Amino acid sequence: VIEMKNLHKAYGSLEVIKGVDITAPKGHVISLIGSSGSGKSTLLRCCNLLEDSQQGDILFKGEQVTWKGEGHARRPADSDQVLRIRTNLSMVFQQFNLWAHMTILQNVMEAPVTVLKRDREQVEKAARAYLDKVGIGDKCDVYPAQLSGGQQQRAAIARALCMEPEALLFDEPTSALDPELEQEVVKVIKDLAKEGRTMLIVTHDMKLAADVSDHVIFLHQGLVEEQGPPETLFGAPKSERLRGFLSATQ
Ligand code: ATP
Ligand code: MG
Repeated sequence: VIEMKNLHKAYGSLEVIKGVDITAPKGHVISLIGSSGSGKSTLLRCCNLLEDSQQGDILFKGEQVTWKGEGHARRPADSDQVLRIRTNLSMVFQQFNLWAHMTILQNVMEAPVTVLKRDREQVEKAARAYLDKVGIGDKCDVYPAQLSGGQQQRAAIARALCMEPEALLFDEPTSALDPELEQEVVKVIKDLAKEGRTMLIVTHDMKLAADVSDHVIFLHQGLVEEQGPPETLFGAPKSERLRGFLSATQ
């Protein structure tokens, strides 16, 4: 579904992504791990066109979403394309980003109704079903501040699902949560993996990465240092840097 080829990204003169190739085939779960500042969030943001990239290609279902050409910042061809990509690669952030002045149901329904112009009644039905699915079907009419962090994050996942995306992008979905709330969200992510959802997950939770991933990518200073199936990457890491990283996170 998603392919990044030789992707380069700089903030001014600071090169952050230095030529990365990532393929996320349909139904696969790919985890991105690596130390702080290695470029994990930047990669996800490029993927979702929240950031420009300077060189290389991003393809969504084989469709080129970056300008060809090098050197200067490149943007996708038009705003329809950006909307299509953002809808299809729905992102869940570390800090839930729910709208405080809207109820949980309104939060989940907002983008499909106002941005995608989908039928309100059908969206409401879907929204309630997704909220049920993540275990907070009884919280439709309350405001985000009345929920625990774990419940807010599950609402954010329901909101992402309500876009009916091709793939989900998670940026450290559990790292703002207390350990006991973290598990509620991990369970939802595991259920989505079992359903065969395509997901790209940035996480510091090595257990989550080991449990749900088909493929794990270890980034170091803007480059893929090592990648492979979780059994190999965690069970028999080859690179010295990955071994150091893993022993530091245990
Ligand atoms: P963390 O685990 O802390 O979230 P990360 O792997 O997600 O780290 P990024 O957020 O992708 O790392 O950042 C990679 C590098 O890019 C860092 O050196 C960071 O300082 C820099 N960076 C990120 N965003 C910006 C920005 N908007 N402007 C300038 N530099 C940035
Ligand atoms: Mg990050």
